Amino acid sequence: MNEAYAKPLPQPTIDSKPFWDGLKEHRMVLQKCADCGRVRHYPRPVCDACLSMEVEWAEASGRGTVYSWTETHHPFHAGFRGETPYILVTVDLDEGVRMQSQLIDASIDELHVGLPVEVVYMDATDEVTLPLLRIVR
Ligand code: ZN
Repeated sequence: MNEAYAKPLPQPTIDSKPFWDGLKEHRMVLQKCADCGRVRHYPRPVCDACLSMEVEWAEASGRGTVYSWTETHHPFHAGFRGETPYILVTVDLDEGVRMQSQLIDASIDELHVGLPVEVVYMDATDEVTLPLLRIVR
């Protein structure tokens, strides 16, 4: 845990709380339609495929591949001052959904579409763990 964590934190909702609770336990769970089985992310109340509101949560691998990225040079929040540049990536998770997060321990020169990455669980506070990403080496 980092007592001095000064960046914006997620505000879990009734739909996303199981996702954040899983991260707090250092595991990733994704929302899955209990009727048609479609996995979805970000967490939301209605299935895009069949419009069902029946939800279950499935254990996810925490692995995926890079779809796109950007390198951030300007801190748009004071909490990020001193950390630029940092890399934000959009990842295709193995479960077939996309997720965005910060890629750590990497150089922009290493990145390419399809690069394997995995989740790193970063305990930001006692209550919030963030799913950062790193390259699978
Ligand atoms: Zn469905």
